[in-house]
Amino acid sequence: MIAERLADVRRRVAQAALDAGRDPADVRLLLATKTQPVHLVREALEADARARADDPALTAVLVGENRVQELVAKGPSLAGLAPLHLIGPLQSNKVNAALRWASCIESVESLGLAERLSARATGPLDVYVQVNVSGEDSKHGVAPSEAVALAGAVAALPGLRLTGLMTVGARSDDDAVVRAGYALLRSLRDEIVAAGTPTATELSMGMSGDLELAVAEGATLVRVGSAVFGARPT
Ligand SMILES: *Cc1c(COP(=O)(O)O)cnc(C)c1O
Repeated sequence: MIAERLADVRRRVAQAALDAGRDPADVRLLLATKTQPVHLVREALEADARARADDPALTAVLVGENRVQELVAKGPSLAGLAPLHLIGPLQSNKVNAALRWASCIESVESLGLAERLSARATGPLDVYVQVNVSGEDSKHGVAPSEAVALAGAVAALPGLRLTGLMTVGARSDDDAVVRAGYALLRSLRDEIVAAGTPTATELSMGMSGDLELAVAEGATLVRVGSAVFGARPT
């Protein structure tokens, strides 16, 4: 079941890439595993390993957790099986706990948090700046108007490697609205790269419901939960 769903998501991503004239290998897949028990995450990672044995062109999936508490709970069972990203908000007092398990923090939304990560990181730590492209109150991330300045400041901190930008797309039935948000993230990324941070090329955007729109706008990492694991209990 999970294997079939994963294969289906892979097909969707590849088709969206081809439709956009992009190489499917340029779009990686992150499994958003919030609320999913370790055995299902493992099942997905095993299915991914089998798929890659059949098709060596595929790149391995990553795993993303939203809550530090859940990252800490599942970390011991998942460490070494896949790179673990934190994709949800990080409070300063939980930085140490997060860094114990996450190799990448996708949710940097303030200079204060970046400084704390910089101070605590033991090796070069990959980080994304999270941008709130839709402006919705419920969403985390820095305002688009502040993203370039924050990215520049983050990139200058020791111990951090700014790898790109992350966003959660607009909650809208209008594809044009969702897509415009993803296009905005791409243009901010282009500005940041041009302004002197050549490593910041990644665009983490797109989820189960809208990954095609994100890939069309240049996503290099799509974060998929329910399309692989089924609907989450609410
Ligand atoms: C849950 C979540 C996802 C995946 O959402 P689905 O709709 O289940 O694919 C992606 N990114 C973040 C930050 C999430 O919290």
